[in-house]
Amino acid sequence: MRLVLLGAPGSGKGTQAQRLRDDRGIPQVSSGDLLRDAVARGTDLGKRAKASMDAGELVSDEIVLGLIRERLGRPDASKGFILDGYPRNVAQAGALDALLAEIGQPIDAVVLMDVDQNALVRRLTGRRTCPVCGKVFNVYFSPSAAGDRCDNDHEGEAPLLVQRADDKEDVIANRLKVYEGQTQPLVEHYRSRGLLKVVNADQTVEQVYADFLRAAEK
Ligand code: AMP
Repeated sequence: MRLVLLGAPGSGKGTQAQRLRDDRGIPQVSSGDLLRDAVARGTDLGKRAKASMDAGELVSDEIVLGLIRERLGRPDASKGFILDGYPRNVAQAGALDALLAEIGQPIDAVVLMDVDQNALVRRLTGRRTCPVCGKVFNVYFSPSAAGDRCDNDHEGEAPLLVQRADDKEDVIANRLKVYEGQTQPLVEHYRSRGLLKVVNADQTVEQVYADFLRAAEK
């Protein structure tokens, strides 16, 4: 299964990709997570990416392609992958096609997580993440059973959940604008190639997952 997940920030791509990864053992390849990891480790690449991320702008195509190329080259990606957050503009879609042709692993489907734009700000301001296992919660829609801590099994005391720096309201507005201007055109791009599947993401996480599986397996 080789999938691309499309959708606005806050549409639930990460949550759904994590579920599928846990169910099927297919890696979730999230460009945002790869970038945040590079920033946290203080690598050169992370230093170059940080200012754009803090402002809610896209990081340069060349930096992100390098990370994706390296990640898809790892052994666990040979049995499939779920691309989450990549590609993000038409140039990246072209670069991805070339990369996948090179490694002989074309995309099976592109799944759009379709959401009501008006609900996105709440979905983003409510988002909290476990800094250790990466599990995503939402204080309004899917809170942790352990309050402000992660409800997954952890050794010792469960970690406190954190809010992403770019999930603050001023940055969110820019991220949504960037999505509309640069990423949304990919919907038509993939639809015209017959690859696009649309999932109604304004449902419970379970309902979305059921529809997502159906779309991915068709
Ligand atoms: P995300 O976790 O997908 O919301 O990404 C967080 C931030 O990382 C974005 O606002 C961008 O600054 C950067 N980013 C993630 N994926 C990409 C990408 N494919 N191209 C450029 N920048 C990206």
